[in-house]
Amino acid sequence: MKKDYTILVPTMLPMHFEILISVFRKSGYNCKLLKNEGDEVKEYGLKYVHNDTCYPAQVVIGQLIDAIENGGYDKNKIALMITQTGGGCRASNYISLLRKALFNAGYSHIPVISLNFAGLDDSSVKFDVPMVLKAVPSIMIGDLLMHLRNQCAPYEQNGESEKLCRKYIDKASEILTQNGLQNKKIQKLYKEIIQDFSKIKRDGKEKTRVGIVGEIFVKFSPLGNNDLESFLASQGAEVYMGGLMDFVLYCVYNSIADAKLYGMRKTKARLYKIVYNYLLKKQRAIIKLIEENSDFVPPAYFDETRKLADGYISIGMKMGEGWLLTCEMLELIHSGVKNIVCAQPFGCLPNHIAGKGMMKVLKENFNDVNIVAIDYDASASRVNQENRIKLMLANSNED
Ligand code: SF4
Repeated sequence: MKKDYTILVPTMLPMHFEILISVFRKSGYNCKLLKNEGDEVKEYGLKYVHNDTCYPAQVVIGQLIDAIENGGYDKNKIALMITQTGGGCRASNYISLLRKALFNAGYSHIPVISLNFAGLDDSSVKFDVPMVLKAVPSIMIGDLLMHLRNQCAPYEQNGESEKLCRKYIDKASEILTQNGLQNKKIQKLYKEIIQDFSKIKRDGKEKTRVGIVGEIFVKFSPLGNNDLESFLASQGAEVYMGGLMDFVLYCVYNSIADAKLYGMRKTKARLYKIVYNYLLKKQRAIIKLIEENSDFVPPAYFDETRKLADGYISIGMKMGEGWLLTCEMLELIHSGVKNIVCAQPFGCLPNHIAGKGMMKVLKENFNDVNIVAIDYDASASRVNQENRIKLMLANSNED
C-alpha cells in the first residue's frame, strides 16, 4: 500500500516534523503533514472523542477527521499516522480512540499506522536502521532551530530567524534524504546553523524571559496551545523551553529506571543505557558547538536536568511527562528564568500532579519564582488564557 497511499500526520512540532517526514518519505512512506486548524478541528474532536478524554486526543483526532472530511483527499487512498508513547497514561490509547472515531464517522476502512519505537501495535511503522539513525539528527536540528530562533526573534528587526529556519529545514531535509548517514554533512550543518544565527543583528533591549513547560502536545503544538510561543513573543517575552530530544531521553531513561527501581527487563535496560549514552553524547556535542561558536545560551544537558528530581519527585513518577516536567521547571529556575508558564491539558491527571501539583513546593523553596498553570481545553477561552499570562508577565521576576 506504501506506494499508492498518502499518510496524513497530525502536527505537533512543525519544524521537527517537516524534517522527520522527509526522512520517512525516503523510506517509502508518503507522508503529508497536516496544517488544518481552527474551530472545526476542535468541533470534530468533541464530536468523535469522548469528552472525558484528555484534550490532546481531541485535537489530534479532530485534526485528522477534519482533514478527511474537508482536505480534498481520496478517502480510499489515505492512511493516518499517530504516535504511541507506550507510557501508562492515555497516550498509548490514542490509537484505539482514533479507530473508534473513524468507525463512528463512517471511515473504518481507513488504515491507521502507529508511530512508536516499541512495536506496540500490529500497525506499527517498520523502522529500518537508516530511518532511526536519521531521526536523531532530525530531532536535534529541529531543537537547535527552535532554541536559536527563540533567542533571536525578540531582538531582531526583519524576521531573519524565521527565514533561517525555513532555509535550514529545507537543507536538512535535502541532506537527510541522501543515501548513507551523511554524518559529516550533518556536523557541518549544525555549525553553519549556529554561525548563521549568530550573524543576526540583535538589539540590546532586555526582554522578560519566560519558560514554557508542560504536557508535550500543549507545550509544543501551536494548535494545542493557541500559539503560545507567538503570543509570548508579541508580549515582548523571550521564550525558553526544553527540546523534543529531552522528552526522548526521558522516555529512554525511564526504561533504565524500571530496571533500577523494580528489577524489570534488565537486559533491555542495558540496551537502553547504550542508547541513552549515545543520545547524551549527541546532545553534549551540540552544546559544545553553541558554546564555541556563539554567545547563545546553550540548551541544558539532560543528564544534569534529570538529577534535579532529587528531593522533589521520584523518577518512578513517569506517567505523561512525569518527573521531567518538575525537572524542567527546576532547570529554568536554576538558570535564572523565573517566569514559567506550565501548559496543562484538560483531563491530564499525570501532568496536573507533576506540574501544577509541584508548584507549591517550588514557590516555597524559591520565593521569587512566578509560575502560572494554564489549562487548555476545547471550551477554554483563549482570552482568559492570554489574560492570565499577561497578569503573570505584569508580575514578572528577573535576576
Ligand atoms: S500525558 Fe496527559 S494529556 Fe498526554 S496522553 Fe497522558 S493523560 Fe493525556
